[in-house]
Amino acid sequence: MKYVYFFGAGKADGTGEMKEVLGGKGAGLAEMTRIGLPVPAGFTITTEACDYYFKHSKKYPKELHGEVDKHLAHLEKLTGKKLGDDTDPLLVSVRSGSARSMPGMMETILNLGLNDKSVKGLAKVTNNERFAYDAYRRFVQMYSSVVIGLPKEELEVKLRAMKQKFGVKDDTQVTAEGWRDLVAQYKSHFKSKTGKDFPEDPVEQLWGAIGAVFESWMGEKAVTYRRVEKIAGLLGTAVNVVQMVFGNTGDNSGTGVCFTRDPSTGEKVFFGDFLLNAQGEDVVAGIRTPMHLNELKTRMPKVYQQLEKVRATLEKHYTDMQDMEFTVENGKLYMLQTRTGKRSPAAAFRMAVDMANEKLIGVEEAIERIKPEDIERLFYPVLNPKASRSELTSRKLAEGINAVPGAAVGKAVFTAEEAEQWAQRGEKVILVRRETSPEDVGGMYVAQGILTATGGKTSHAAVVARGWGKCCIVGAEKLDIDAATKKMSSNGRVINQGDWITLDGGDGSVYTGQIELARPEPPKAYETLMKWCDKVRRLGVRTNADTPQDARIAREMGAEGIGLCRTEHMFFKDFEHPEKSRDRQRAIQEMILADTTEARRTALAKLLPFQRRDFIGIFEAMNGLPVTIRLIDPPLHEFVPHEPAKQAELAKDIGISAEAVARRVAQLHEANPMLGFRGCRLCIIFPEILEMQVRAIIEAAIDCRKRGIKVLPEIMHPLTLDEKELKILENETRKVADAIIAESKVKLEYLVGTMIELPRAALLAGQIAEVAEFFSFGTNDLTQTTMGLSRDDAGRFLPVYVDEHKAGVFKADPFQSLDTEGVGLLVRWAIENGRKTRPKLKIGICGEHGGDGDSVKFCHEVGMNYVSASPFRVPIARLAAAQVVIEDKKNAKKKKPAGKRK
Ligand code: PEP
Ligand code: MG
Repeated sequence: MKYVYFFGAGKADGTGEMKEVLGGKGAGLAEMTRIGLPVPAGFTITTEACDYYFKHSKKYPKELHGEVDKHLAHLEKLTGKKLGDDTDPLLVSVRSGSARSMPGMMETILNLGLNDKSVKGLAKVTNNERFAYDAYRRFVQMYSSVVIGLPKEELEVKLRAMKQKFGVKDDTQVTAEGWRDLVAQYKSHFKSKTGKDFPEDPVEQLWGAIGAVFESWMGEKAVTYRRVEKIAGLLGTAVNVVQMVFGNTGDNSGTGVCFTRDPSTGEKVFFGDFLLNAQGEDVVAGIRTPMHLNELKTRMPKVYQQLEKVRATLEKHYTDMQDMEFTVENGKLYMLQTRTGKRSPAAAFRMAVDMANEKLIGVEEAIERIKPEDIERLFYPVLNPKASRSELTSRKLAEGINAVPGAAVGKAVFTAEEAEQWAQRGEKVILVRRETSPEDVGGMYVAQGILTATGGKTSHAAVVARGWGKCCIVGAEKLDIDAATKKMSSNGRVINQGDWITLDGGDGSVYTGQIELARPEPPKAYETLMKWCDKVRRLGVRTNADTPQDARIAREMGAEGIGLCRTEHMFFKDFEHPEKSRDRQRAIQEMILADTTEARRTALAKLLPFQRRDFIGIFEAMNGLPVTIRLIDPPLHEFVPHEPAKQAELAKDIGISAEAVARRVAQLHEANPMLGFRGCRLCIIFPEILEMQVRAIIEAAIDCRKRGIKVLPEIMHPLTLDEKELKILENETRKVADAIIAESKVKLEYLVGTMIELPRAALLAGQIAEVAEFFSFGTNDLTQTTMGLSRDDAGRFLPVYVDEHKAGVFKADPFQSLDTEGVGLLVRWAIENGRKTRPKLKIGICGEHGGDGDSVKFCHEVGMNYVSASPFRVPIARLAAAQVVIEDKKNAKKKKPAGKRK
């Protein structure tokens, strides 16, 4: 196997296509060399060598030493210099670079090859002693911190002390003597910390640097970055050893970073920064304020012109926005890097659409360029990017699981009730709870954001908040929340009710005080691109919505129907007449506490008009699009109060004794409610609940039909186990529905179907399809029951399971991205067998996975008719559904054998 690839003097062993092996930087350097751009010579050690290193207890492949020696000799021949030579030394940079860009996450070492002798040679040939010692101190500093791991701060302290000693403020004012003095200090520091002398041998330096770059692949920040960016399946980092060129030899030199288009707005303008008389890291580290590229135009017009040409060449060559690094050494331009540039979500849309319109790329390519996160981040308010980092650090209170991105600012309030009261008088609040229950829904609704100490990404709070596009942080376990005294504490700080806090749902950080937010406007290009997606995709996209208002938002987001309306959410909140919410709550609680069927029916009769009105609102909002309504699902104990004071209040309201309420609530207690008396089991035991809900749905539909509004109700039973159970429910459903329809004399069609949420239901799908007219996979529960992971508690240990640095069992949180290997197997089986029984069986998904890009692609592959996502994730599903069609097309092309078909 070849582990090292050379580039230089217009020739390269590798190409731009070889990103997987050479990394983005290595592939870019090879490609730029091939197309005749000015690139310093060097060689790339492949990502395969890095992979080998980690798979073989940090040993290099046998061949590597020989290959590096050979290519180093070649580099020395080409440049006419020797590494670390005493008179005219070759110096190199050693840089990381993986197949996906991970800016700043891995290490780089510059000016390698300098030692006490070669620095003198460098000073002599450049006739610039100050420059030589400046380069040397940078090298010793980087080597000490990157290769040896000495804390940067200790070195910085010495730099500051030296400047003080020599009475200068800026680095540019330091003389050769100052830098020499600093090198001596760094070296003695090195000796005192490591017990060894700083390595003088350039080859030893080189291997130290190569090892450090490999190691940085598994460094904490790189691992975290890959996790949050969902980067998986890469071999490792490549190592680029490149001849140094110097931007710090004087005022005819400099270094810069530039983008072929504006990465913030996407506008087609040349964008970048430049520093005169500086080395690369000065620009990135922000030590000095750089100047705009325009200034380069006046200071070095020839170089600027050449750079403009490179910009055009590279963008055309790569057909995407490039992020380039360059250095000017004594008036000569060198390109050090080109890679596809990172961009803001808004810029991603604008560039994709502009480039398609410019015919630089096709429409399909434009669609492929957008990531689900681009859409997500387009709609949520964010912390103002200008907020100062140091201020954020000093205000950090706690960290939790970033369940719903975006940001929120509000006053901490510890009960849902108070959240509603405060909101009513116009206060902005953040609802802080140990955990939330459906009872909190009102408070959650009015809050700017939600913070809980327990729960995972599909916990109740997260599911509900996502539906509203509301920032939510769950599982902030270090928060000590005391709802009784209305206080929380963490990190030695106390937050009282009414104190301002800020949530950053992007990374799960909780801050004290108010931090300014910004809400980006979706750009025009967004609409254009989404229309392109709709033309391409074949999978339908519906939404999970429980209120007319959600339904309207979802339609704006492009939903083509409702795939899941969770009716129990309507029991707690009257979204159109909030002041009437209590009437509903009391009615459902009365129903639950009822001792007799008759009493239950009386309570249900009170609920009927509320539900009917909600359904009318939803049918109107969806105006002819299909609406899947699920009958009651959660266990009954979730609907009744558990605190004595509230129980007493309820007892008074409904005219029974407090003891009776307490007794009934205690009776409802279950050891494992998620596997208990919930789902369709409730309607099997209490068919009168089914009767009321079906009546509300059908009467609402008839009301709409009479007013000329088209309706397509689909009545769905949750958590069924098998055909027999569903048959009982279906009979009951049809009996109620058909009688109402017959009496109304209105022609109304409706479907009866089921959720597939239990492994048993998936296994017996062939039989269930005898009864069900449609299936909707409830993958939140199906994941929970298949994997034996509690969706409410798994947040405690799942982070370790998905961290490749720790257990690394899963690639992603299975409650977020469908476990296609395990749970997916049941889904495939159920679809295949369901359709064997009923070929036209309508099939969708309504778990949280319906709004996850990779899961949506899986749903397309297995032949579902639609996915259903919360309103703000509808565009993500539209995008993924289009992207998978394009991927399929490409794969089909690849599979076709070359040559003519007979
Ligand atoms: C599911 O289980 O996937 C589902 C959609 O139902 P819920 O989240 O309401 O349990
Ligand atoms: Mg469920």
